[in-house]
Formats: sequence, C-alpha cells, structure tokens
Amino acid sequence: INPAFERVTGYTLDEIKDRPAHYTVHYKYPDGRPYPMEECPIDSAYPIMQPVPYGEEVFVRKDGTVFPVAFAVAPLERDGQNVGAVVEFRDITQQKEAEEERERLLALEQQARIMAEAASRLRDEFLTVAAHELKTPMTSLRGYAQVTLRRLEREGTLTPERVRTTLKAIDQQTLRLARLVEQLLDVSRIASGRLALQRQHIDVVGLVRAEMDGAQARTDQHTLVLSVSDQPLLAWVDPLRLEQVLANLLDNAIKYSPEGGLIEVAVSRQDERVQIAVRDRGLGIPAEQRAHIFDRFYQAHADQHRSGLGLGLFIAKQIVDLHGGTITAAFPEGGGSRFTVSLPLSCSGARSGGHYPTGSRS
Ligand code: ADP
Repeated sequence: INPAFERVTGYTLDEIKDRPAHYTVHYKYPDGRPYPMEECPIDSAYPIMQPVPYGEEVFVRKDGTVFPVAFAVAPLERDGQNVGAVVEFRDITQQKEAEEERERLLALEQQARIMAEAASRLRDEFLTVAAHELKTPMTSLRGYAQVTLRRLEREGTLTPERVRTTLKAIDQQTLRLARLVEQLLDVSRIASGRLALQRQHIDVVGLVRAEMDGAQARTDQHTLVLSVSDQPLLAWVDPLRLEQVLANLLDNAIKYSPEGGLIEVAVSRQDERVQIAVRDRGLGIPAEQRAHIFDRFYQAHADQHRSGLGLGLFIAKQIVDLHGGTITAAFPEGGGSRFTVSLPLSCSGARSGGHYPTGSRS
C-alpha cells in the first residue's frame, strides 16, 4: 500500500494494515450488496501462481462511495514459493465517464438515425397515399368529360338534366380535389408557422348548425342531431378555420361509421369556454392507436382503404391550439368515438401568435 492508495481510497496505511484489502476497498458491490471474498477475482485467486494482466472492478472509498478501477495482479514468489501478490490498480473514473459519454452519443445518433428513417418511410408512404388520393377524383373528372363528349358526339346534344347531373358530379370531385390540396397547403403553412387566424365575434351555435346542415346533405345513411341551449354563444374565433375543424370532425364521424347511424353534436358553455362534442357510434379507434391520431399523416384505419391523407385531425389540432383551445378524443363504452373541442369564449385565453386581426388569408 502506497501513498497513491491512501489518496485514492481515503484510508491511511495504519487504518488497514492488519486486514485483507478486500474488506477495506472491495466489501460491497456498487448497488450495496455485500461482496464475499470468495467471489472476488483478486483475493480468491490466492495463492496466485498466474498473473492477471488486466481486470476491471469497482472499489469502495473510506466514505462509502465507489469508483471504477483497472487492476493487474502479479504473483510474488520467494524461493519458488508463492508468498503473496502485488495488486496494482488505477482509478478509471474519467475513462469510464468518457466511455459512457461515447456510448450515450452513439445511442443518440442511432436513435436519430432510426427516427430519420421512420420519417423518411412515413414521407414515402404519405406520397403514395397522397398520389392515390389525388388520382381518384382526377380519374373521375376525366371519366365525366369523356362520357359527356362521347354522348355529345353520338347524340349531337345533351339534355339540361344530363348537363346538370354531370356538372354536379364534376363540382363534387373538384371540391374533393380542392380540399386535398388545401390540406397539403395547410400542412406547409403549419410547418413554416404561417397558419394565421382572422378572428371575429361569431355565434358558435349558428356556425355548428350550418356545418351540420352541410354534412347532413352529404349523407343519407346518417342522422345528425344537435343538442344545444337556445342562447347564441358568441366567441372570438376564425369562422372559416372553425368551420374547417367541424367539417373534418363531422366528415370523419360519417366516414368512420360505415353502417350509418346517429351522429350527435352537443354545444355547451362551460364557464368561459364553449365546448363542441361530436359523438358517433362507428368503428372507434383501437386502443393502441389512439395516442397518434392527432399526428401528421397518421391513419388508424389505413388497412381498410378509407379515403383521406391522415391530415385532418392534425390540422384541426393546430387550429384549435392557435385559438388557445383543446381538442380531445374519447371512446365511450357503447362504441364509436367522441371528439370534443373546447375554445375560450374571449381572446384572453388565446395564444398571442394566433391573433391576426387584419391582413389577407394566404
Ligand atoms: P383521415 O384523412 O385519414 O381521415 P384524420 O386526420 O382526419 O385523417 O384522422 C386520422 C385518423 O384517425 C383516421 O385515419 C382514422 O383512422 C381515425 N379517425 C378519425 N376520426 C375518427 C372517427 N370519428 N372514428 C374512428 N376513427 C377516426
């Protein structure tokens, strides 16, 4: 035992000279469990005939703290007899810390690579979905144009009724295309922080009622029912953006209730907030997927080939966040889903970034 040992361990030579070193610096594992001498690779090797050129262990200081060491053991012989051993050790705290730091950085790098790969996979999948989604209405538009042209060439004229149904169909498909493109533009606005609100004081009940009329006109399989107090509820919101959120929730309620059925919407006042809940009795969302539904591009029913880009709820959440509100999903016992939007009635709860009273919508 030399002065370096005293410095590193905190013991003085006098304190330890009459007992085996194991009981001084090696009596416990780092987690506090006792370290029996029989398990010790240094002391259990007595009588040491073979040198141990390198080993790593953890030693204990006088104050009970532990530190990693690298050790080497060389047998001590006198007249061909083993009379002990020289144990040489070195505090390798810094080396270990450097190794741990290197491993931490490596793990971070690996994690970043995995995330980048996942993001790139998601983007590729999204492009496939987006291309497919855009192609469907375009194919349909071309179909209407070709059929109408052929009929015109064959018959020389079109009845007003034929023109009306064709134009109506074209209008619907164009609207579908426009919505998809608008969603893509919204995602790029969100990514660059350019999603802006143009707020007004508007009656939320009237807005919900109008959106529900629009949604009801898009389905005859579902019955939309509104429950609301008669009082108008004035809130400081962007009407077009709130309409967009509602249209998305209502369209989802319809789309993910393939058997048709009741869709209940409730508008209520909760203190200084207005709450809009859309409840359907459709497919619901599997428990393991629920955490992701507000993520960009996420689709919980993608395997069932339902239309959509997985962007509606993501955009809805950004819009509601900008208003200083919340949007949540719940899955009641009876099946289906309930999406609830809660918005502050006045501007005091809104995020300042979402307040753009003037300027044009881009
Ligand atoms: P999409 O364009 O795919 O409908 P959304 O962002 O609007 O994208 O919704 C994300 C996913 O959440 C959907 O793909 C669907 O799996 C699920 N989802 C949304 N609304 C409902 C609902 N009312 N019932 C069941 N699943 C829903």
